[in-house]
Amino acid sequence: MQRDDMVTAMTDIMANFTNYLGKHLPDDIMAKLGQLRSAEEKPLAKVVYDSMFENLAQADALDRPCCQDTGVIQFFIKAGADFPLLSDVREILDEAVRRATRAAPLRHNAVEIFEEKNTGNNTGERIPWIDWEIVPNDSGIHLDVYMAGGGCSLPGQGKTLMPAAGYEGVVQFVFDVMTSYGVNACPPLLVGIGIGGSIEVAANLSKKALFRPIGSRHPDPRGAEMERLIEDGLNEIGIGPQGVSGTDSVMGVHIEKAARHPSTISVAVSVGCWAHRRGAIRINADMSYEILSHKGVTL
Ligand code: SF4
Repeated sequence: MQRDDMVTAMTDIMANFTNYLGKHLPDDIMAKLGQLRSAEEKPLAKVVYDSMFENLAQADALDRPCCQDTGVIQFFIKAGADFPLLSDVREILDEAVRRATRAAPLRHNAVEIFEEKNTGNNTGERIPWIDWEIVPNDSGIHLDVYMAGGGCSLPGQGKTLMPAAGYEGVVQFVFDVMTSYGVNACPPLLVGIGIGGSIEVAANLSKKALFRPIGSRHPDPRGAEMERLIEDGLNEIGIGPQGVSGTDSVMGVHIEKAARHPSTISVAVSVGCWAHRRGAIRINADMSYEILSHKGVTL
């Protein structure tokens, strides 16, 4: 395939995938919402879960976004060092977002800082946001695509603690954030926690924690235990779907970590809402692709 044809092919794939993501939640979120709905005991909370599933069915039937808030579109990429279109990825994703915005259609959400002007096509300075990791000895590219809604971005916070605050300080920070702002983010929530030595590291990891499949646990047993304890504690609060109170509060709690400076411990929280529109796709060097988040879907 010629280079121009490859650029066209990848642009088509990503435009169609971004459009699709705005209308269909990934398999693991659908399964978890179904599980929480079955376990729910409070009548009002049951009604809210029913309305969520009705909303999703209507979005599918009418081919419309499942939430009015497109969010800001973000791509977290693990790019093979030998992927042939590395130089074209920014241009491809900008164009894919513009096309998905027209085709879906998606609400316009990119507002330029200082100008305070909505660009009208969901692209702008550094938006869609692209986060890069380069993978040696690989010729494909893996993209986690995320629509970061306003309500679920609102609880996003971070803090660098004195080391003596320890992991108790980390847990206290998470609970302070979730009990202050969690209800604004359209629960049940997916809670991403980043722990590291400086604030930008913790913030970045907290967002990446949202891409781990629901039901997965941190590979370190101590991290897994901390996830379980925080999840149980947040569920005890019983925020319920859309904050009406209910049996549970969260779809999951995921922790990602990086080694820290001895004198600091930074923690950050990112939150995903019930309409957690994320998708994972791998594109190979020959432009064949596999959708990992929504099984059996072709674009
Ligand atoms: S928090 Fe999520 S479900 Fe609620 S309005 Fe924002 S994007 Fe939509």
